[in-house]
Amino acid sequence: MINSENLYQLWQYLHQNPELSFKEHHTTQFIARTLKNWGITFRRFKNLETGGYADVGSGGPVVAYRAEIDALPIEENPAHSVISHNRGVMHACGHDYHTTIGLGLLKYFSEKPQKTGGRLRVIFQPGEEAAPGGAEKVLAENIWQDVKGILTVHTQPQTPVGTFSLFRGAVQASSTSVKILLKGPGGHTSRPFESVDLINVAGQYITQLQSYVKQKTDVRDAVAFAFGSINGGETHNIIPDKIFLWGTLRTLDNEVLARCLKHIQHFSSSFAKLFDIQIDVQFPTICPAVINDANLVRKFYDFMQEQNLEQQIQMPEKPSMGSDDFSFYLKKAPGLYLIMGGGGKGALHSPDLEMDQALIDSALEVLSGFISYLFKETPIKTEKKT
Ligand SMILES: [Zn+2]
Ligand SMILES: [Zn+2]
Repeated sequence: MINSENLYQLWQYLHQNPELSFKEHHTTQFIARTLKNWGITFRRFKNLETGGYADVGSGGPVVAYRAEIDALPIEENPAHSVISHNRGVMHACGHDYHTTIGLGLLKYFSEKPQKTGGRLRVIFQPGEEAAPGGAEKVLAENIWQDVKGILTVHTQPQTPVGTFSLFRGAVQASSTSVKILLKGPGGHTSRPFESVDLINVAGQYITQLQSYVKQKTDVRDAVAFAFGSINGGETHNIIPDKIFLWGTLRTLDNEVLARCLKHIQHFSSSFAKLFDIQIDVQFPTICPAVINDANLVRKFYDFMQEQNLEQQIQMPEKPSMGSDDFSFYLKKAPGLYLIMGGGGKGALHSPDLEMDQALIDSALEVLSGFISYLFKETPIKTEKKT
């Protein structure tokens, strides 16, 4: 169907020229140039300097595919056969593959317009690895009006090429950055009774806050709440007047997330009154959980069954506690997030990551077929929660 040799060359260029989040200027130019050569119009975003989108087909509805384009600050293992030319930056999360798949889908549907009863829109999203990521800004673009469904794939090295992990419900956790500042009067360690012994109080606050959130959460709901940084004080005989805590809260349900944020605020204000200190709680970034649309999950399964490919589907029971800002798009359209086998070595975000380029063909075969299937089956309805 698609000339995979050409796509392999595109992937190779992307892999050799990775760029960090929101700095994907050459990558964006490369995408624009490639699409121009194919006669496809590439449009830049109004709120972002990098990334953009392209449509092929005509009329409605629009089925969107999200491809991330950014790389990570990692020095690639020099033994790899295709290696980053940008030292210290590496496509270690497979976004070079995701971008290639997006380009391949546009090429496929531009050459077979009779197959589409609608438009395919590929969104080349910058800054997925950053917090906050690029998705919130893409969400503010005027590109969502006719979008009836949005798809994405994330490759992973641990499973064989051609396999798709299909999650019912949550795929990736919500991730919230939690920044807390405890403020007391400070003083001499010889007279803690005249001041507030802020390190002791912070110790109590940390353990009691985590117990409180746990106790207020239904035991059947997953919550991971841990601090990764604590800072305060200068020396042995001065009680500090400030202690900073920084952590992450993760949940698999966006309603559980909203409740946890309230519990943290409520506990903190009550605790502050009890000890006569100030506690300032901030959530600088809140990335919701990625929840697959039940109707799209069923359609994907039906499509794979129709193609006799259902044996390539895995249905894992436990979602990832990682996160992906793809979740923001789910405010605009029902979505399906597939995890696809990359048949490789190393792990995501590691210098040893290497995947099998055969995944490009495999992804395009399944995704082009599934998108055609969705066009035939329009409109895509969102399943109501019961
Ligand atoms: Zn990543
Ligand atoms: Zn990724």
